[in-house]
Amino acid sequence: MTLALERPCLVPEVAGAELSVPLVNGGTIGYANLDHAASAPCLQRVRTAVDEFLPWYASVHRGAGFASQVSTKVYERTREVLRRFTGARSTDTVIFTRNTTDSFNLLAKCLPRETSVVLFDTEHHAALLPWRGPRVHRVEPPRTRLAAVSAVDSALAACAPGPRLVVLTGASNVTGELLPVAEIAAVARKHGARIALDAAQLAPHRPFSLRELDVDYVALSGHKLYAPFGAGALVGRADWLRAGQPYLAGGGATKAVQRHHGTELGVVWNSGPERHEAGSPNTVGVYALGVACEALSENWDAIREHEDALLRRLHRGLSSVPGFAELRLFDADVDRVGTLSFVIDGFEPGWLAAVLSAEYGIGVRDGAFCAHIATRRLIRFAGGAGQQAVRVSLGLGSTEEHVDRLLLALRQIVARGA
Ligand code: PLP
Repeated sequence: MTLALERPCLVPEVAGAELSVPLVNGGTIGYANLDHAASAPCLQRVRTAVDEFLPWYASVHRGAGFASQVSTKVYERTREVLRRFTGARSTDTVIFTRNTTDSFNLLAKCLPRETSVVLFDTEHHAALLPWRGPRVHRVEPPRTRLAAVSAVDSALAACAPGPRLVVLTGASNVTGELLPVAEIAAVARKHGARIALDAAQLAPHRPFSLRELDVDYVALSGHKLYAPFGAGALVGRADWLRAGQPYLAGGGATKAVQRHHGTELGVVWNSGPERHEAGSPNTVGVYALGVACEALSENWDAIREHEDALLRRLHRGLSSVPGFAELRLFDADVDRVGTLSFVIDGFEPGWLAAVLSAEYGIGVRDGAFCAHIATRRLIRFAGGAGQQAVRVSLGLGSTEEHVDRLLLALRQIVARGA
């Protein structure tokens, strides 16, 4: 019999775990990557798969050659992988984009005229900025999850008649806290609104399902899901996307082009996902994204166990660092992924991050995390004064040694003073 405590927690392996980085004292040390929320290291399984696929990539949808057939198959099959990964409905469309930012800009371009958009002003800029016009309602989120649901309810009730969309992140990129997506989706439904989920930070850590959450769209990025840069997806209801202007004009998005009345062109655009995928797509990136999604889907329990244990260790240690104050969206403890931001009284975040890198080989992020309104406000709530913080984000490349090294480093830095 295996005792629960002895059960090995086997999480998918990341590439680069053996990387060493230079230190300011002339030595080297194993890299402690505590910046998974920015971009996660590539899974070893993804690296191997991409390596095998590289000799085969060719133009998709356009070539009769064998390599083109293979690439087209891989590309189209990955739509099914994304459909499963996001729990999409059979009628949902899967459009490959560059990343979450691209996905939201595409969706924004396809909103029916006069759509009212409701969102919290604390969203990542990728979700905050694509929507324009007088019908965009940016709400300050209250400090409890329950009140946050009510705030969306009230904002929707005050919207002008017409289509409505709620945009919401699944997990905050500043604090790691989970937002009440299902509850807000239910409120959205009550008002006849659709809901778009920013899963950039949720998808690498938790399984989710569009169907079960009753969410209409989801946007995600491959580079946060342990695949290399360059491929992301927008998954969701096909009607608005089919009716919207093509995101890019060019080959692949068109069914037919001909000259019309002298100088005019007559263009018939595709109505499927290709409508928004003009140009030669990033087939290798899409394949990598699909392999990463499959690897994560097979390992959710181990991933959760690994990350939760590290987060508890990190949290316990940080709370005893003098002057430490954590940024929080909500007053009470809520379920969260392994991301947290903090300030330390008397220490400038940029300087702290630079010392962690130069002296300890630790990579963290400092700044306002492309969520300026959230970061500024949450620093104030935490009793800090500045506009920037330090963010630590855990993932499959993180180890107990990385967490312990960070805690020791912060204690030493604070003890010797700025
Ligand atoms: N949404 C959230 C919550 C994020 O954390 C990020 C990136 O950090 C994005 C959107 C944008 O992702 P990308 O830069 O891959 O478009």
